[in-house]
Amino acid sequence: MLDTLRRIIQEVNRAPDLSRALEVIVARLKQAMAVDVCSVYLVDSDAQQYVMMATDGYHPSVVGQVRLEFGQGLVGEVVRREEPLNLDNASDHPSYIFSRQIDEEIYHGFLGVPIIQHRMVLGVLVVRQRERRRFAEEEETFLFTLGAQLAGAISHAEANGDIDRLLRESDEARYALKGASGTPGAAVGRAHVVYPQANLEAIPDHPVEDVEAEIASFHAAVAAVERDMRIISARMVDTLSSEEIALFDALILMLRSETLVDSTVEGIRAGNWAPGALRKTIDEHVSAFEKMDDLYLRERAGDVRDLGRRIIEHLQSSHPTAHAYVPGTILVGEEVSASQLAEVPANMLVAVVSARGSSASHVAILARALGIPAVMGIDDLPVNRLEGQELVVDGYQARLFVRPSEAVRREFQRLQREEAELSDELQELAALPAETPDGTVIPLYANTGLLADISASLRCGAEGVGLYRTEVPFLIRDRFPGEEEQRRTYRQVLEAFAPAPVTVRTLDIGGDKMLPYFPVHEDNPFLGWRGIRISLDHPEIFLAQVRAILRANIGLNNLQLLLPMVSNVTEVDSALGLIHRAHHELCDEEEGGEMPRVGVMIEVPSTVYQIPALAQRVDFFSIGTNDLTQYLMAVDRNNAQVAALYDTLHPAVLRAIHQVVREAHAAARPVSVCGEMAGDPAAALLLLAMGVDSLSMSAASLLRVKWAIRTFPLTKIHQLFEEIQELEDGASVRALLHRSLDEAGLGGLIRAGR
Ligand code: PEP
Ligand code: MG
Repeated sequence: MLDTLRRIIQEVNRAPDLSRALEVIVARLKQAMAVDVCSVYLVDSDAQQYVMMATDGYHPSVVGQVRLEFGQGLVGEVVRREEPLNLDNASDHPSYIFSRQIDEEIYHGFLGVPIIQHRMVLGVLVVRQRERRRFAEEEETFLFTLGAQLAGAISHAEANGDIDRLLRESDEARYALKGASGTPGAAVGRAHVVYPQANLEAIPDHPVEDVEAEIASFHAAVAAVERDMRIISARMVDTLSSEEIALFDALILMLRSETLVDSTVEGIRAGNWAPGALRKTIDEHVSAFEKMDDLYLRERAGDVRDLGRRIIEHLQSSHPTAHAYVPGTILVGEEVSASQLAEVPANMLVAVVSARGSSASHVAILARALGIPAVMGIDDLPVNRLEGQELVVDGYQARLFVRPSEAVRREFQRLQREEAELSDELQELAALPAETPDGTVIPLYANTGLLADISASLRCGAEGVGLYRTEVPFLIRDRFPGEEEQRRTYRQVLEAFAPAPVTVRTLDIGGDKMLPYFPVHEDNPFLGWRGIRISLDHPEIFLAQVRAILRANIGLNNLQLLLPMVSNVTEVDSALGLIHRAHHELCDEEEGGEMPRVGVMIEVPSTVYQIPALAQRVDFFSIGTNDLTQYLMAVDRNNAQVAALYDTLHPAVLRAIHQVVREAHAAARPVSVCGEMAGDPAAALLLLAMGVDSLSMSAASLLRVKWAIRTFPLTKIHQLFEEIQELEDGASVRALLHRSLDEAGLGGLIRAGR
């Protein structure tokens, strides 16, 4: 059974489109289960119907014609129950309805299973038997497993517009894709696809200008790989068995095989660039191998993929990666990284779209800092078909429109205009304090990382920098920056804001912020070597950074130092020891300046319970709600699959923050919040009610938060907080906050609030 299942799935995955995939399924299933009919019904939500999309057994003319209203028939029963329905005589069931189109009455045995993806029923797989037949439990689970696998293929096809095309027989090639989460804003632009080095599947198609030169560089790459393989094989003769060495020879033969070279060259001649043409060839080879009966030959599919990657690596070194960016660029990728984003000039970039990640991912945070929308977690993003396509990015509702219709484009251009108008109105608040109508003032600081967002922060009246993420300048280089290079970067930020305070956080790499030149491979990077842990294990990196920061502060004295990812007081002791050492060394060289105030990020739950001990060691606290939420709730901030569970307004998160503020104040230490939560106008009000001393957020959020603070009297906010403390889940907290904002005439903030 397992083998049959695997083969059907492989064949389905290779099908060029959904209708072919469904045909394969019904034909193979009918045969494997020895039934008289096998059909697939898909849900057409617009028409509110179930439509038979493929059949083997009934007359082919009924495909697309047999339609049941929602809730009707046995298919409707399977959808309602979201479970298999196994009947030895279908017509005995109360939901049975007779259909003349398919001559229903001759069939007795019925087994239907739902096809479910992300809690949604997409369709129903049905097998029928003329005789009475109660299907065995293994048959039920077999069909069920296939249904689950099919769900992926269907939603993928849905993403590609196939379903719409099939259902409506229209070839309009536009479609909207849904992401798991987004960051506020709307943008219209063109896709530029980025992909990690040597990730075959993600390579986009790309038109080629000089075909002959492209073919030549492809041949050169193949020759280079052959050379590499010979060198490796020669080096391995003493360590590998002759059988294993023979494998290398087989790979070299494969490299020379005409099919691999010729079909790629053909692809290039047809107008695709070499990496795209090679991806297609490798795909074809891989599926040919996967189809083979012999296990040994099937496993060669992996070797072909490996060969492909090797050729790509060589091709990439001959294709300069530097890209000429154009205005209106929308960065698109399987997993867009912070460094890929940082590479694009800020004035060219209008949005980010990533198949993986969530709105709490660092790349989304950077997008927010630049004031551009991001849509994260579109698992069916057809990355390699998007290069150069026109896109509309709707960050509010986490939607992406590919090749939008004129109406959609116009609608989003209008939204963009409204946004700009609101920003103009808000701009008048820049010079005013963040003061509630009843006189409570709270400083609003900016989060920065890119030098590009300094001017935006100043423009919107940031009263300093509450979080300068120093890893960002590290991310956009191809090596560790030297001490003097670092000093110059930090100096620019300190100078731009002086005498206002600038909180510089020491390096927080690890997690989803990997330096390309300092790779770390871990199973659980967010629970691994990250932030202060790396700094303490590499005092040479930490000391150089601290010296650079202290030297940048000379004569300005507006620096505060912040330590990330602290989980223990001993880490603070060690870090303070190194900071004092760096300061003394500089004082000896007469470059010391003043010793800055030092603070700790509260973002690992263990620190929530250690405030008194930490308060004895440091001068202030800054709550990192992004990580605190992730660690408190065990929800990976980067995982689109669980993005709906990631909630900074969860009562547990609110209680943790409240406790930190109370205990820090008891020890006379101020508390700031620098996670994304501080930039959500509704959440910012709650933080104010809890007594947080300052808020730090991306420049794009600052004026909205100020507007909310200047509208709500503190007494009202306190009342609201009282009510909220009684609530038991994040959704209710959000609903109550949004209702209050709406009533206060701040509805415009809600749309952009999450
Ligand atoms: C946080 O965790 O809330 C934070 C501000 O740090 P980062 O987002 O850089 O991890
Ligand atoms: Mg953090």
